[in-house]
Amino acid sequence: MTQAWDTPAPELPAQRPNAAGLDRAGLRGLVEALGEPAYRAAQLYEGLYLHRYSDWAQFTALPKALRARLAEAADLRWPAIRDSLTSGDGATKHVFDLADGRQVEGVFMPYANRTTLCLSSQVGCAMGCTFCATGQMGIVRNLTAGEIVGQAVAMLEHHRVPKETRVNIVFMGMGEPLHNFEHLMEAFDLLSDPGGLAISPRRITVSTSGLVPGIQRLAERKRRPRLALSLNGTTDAYRSRIMPVNRVWNLEALASALRAFPLEKGERITLEYVLLKGVTDSLEDGRRLADFARQFPSKVNLIPFNPHEGSGFEAPDEARISALCERLASARLTVSVRRSRGQDVAGACGQLVREGRRAPVRRSP
Ligand code: SAH
Ligand code: SF4
Repeated sequence: MTQAWDTPAPELPAQRPNAAGLDRAGLRGLVEALGEPAYRAAQLYEGLYLHRYSDWAQFTALPKALRARLAEAADLRWPAIRDSLTSGDGATKHVFDLADGRQVEGVFMPYANRTTLCLSSQVGCAMGCTFCATGQMGIVRNLTAGEIVGQAVAMLEHHRVPKETRVNIVFMGMGEPLHNFEHLMEAFDLLSDPGGLAISPRRITVSTSGLVPGIQRLAERKRRPRLALSLNGTTDAYRSRIMPVNRVWNLEALASALRAFPLEKGERITLEYVLLKGVTDSLEDGRRLADFARQFPSKVNLIPFNPHEGSGFEAPDEARISALCERLASARLTVSVRRSRGQDVAGACGQLVREGRRAPVRRSP
């Protein structure tokens, strides 16, 4: 049977050219079309990704007449922040307006000496995980590389994050990043380019529900982000119930792809594990999770379920969360419990869905 993720997701309909999100080659094309020398492209690149400009008028290193011609030829449009909601713990959920009127969400999380940005990779998601609000929307379309990078640029500018602050990026917002592989990699190259945004590849993490061909493609890349897998189930029977992708690539197919994934020295694969009361939180699950995690260098991140309207799931109580955590730690695994930031503004992972646009919620199986 063909699955929603077997076919490429729709793309942004054709728009007026937009400089925001172009790479060096794209910017060269833009300036060459205006009969300008190549070094102008380098100036544009710096302006966009080093200085994070969002308006042609800010390119004061360029002659005014050239700025006017650029503005004629192309837009300079990052995703625009439409709404921002800050929660008690300091995380801010931003809703971005895209060029076609769609919206995605990103989360800004400030810490003492670093900042973490949670980015979306698609509008909606094709994977249909039953516990996830985004999954209930279905897939609308892929984000472009500019729309992915633009969420980061817009949040860094909005919060006036100094250029020297350490920035972490996690692709844990809306969408399955590996279902939008090409644009994700273009965005990764822009985010991690030392001549631009300069975010270390080691600080960029892509979280996947387990698209094995995507994991294998990532493994072939020389420069790549770090990998996180949303495991969320320890038997095929249970995992297939909550994550339809498991019916195609089951736990053994996943483990085999992860064992073959070439890791740098000290690098580990993160295993995210959403705790659903009575579904994925037994002590037996803890034992099987440990067995899975031991097959390659890994660390485990337990995520108590973030409730959302009509999901039909609940988070386990604290005693069970601690018991599982201890069981994994005593099996000598590195384990942490993610106290999701932004929960009170519906911005925690898995809750990223536009209010009022929610598709009818499916019952859990
Ligand atoms: N599609 C990718 C990345 C986005 S989801 C993936 O699935 O990995 C990011 C994380 O949020 C995943 O680990 C997912 O399992 C988790 N998640 C989804 N819905 C959740 C919810 N309601 N509560 C807690 N975690 C959730
Ligand atoms: Fe998509 Fe990830 Fe949600 Fe599954 S958990 S539906 S893959 S966003």
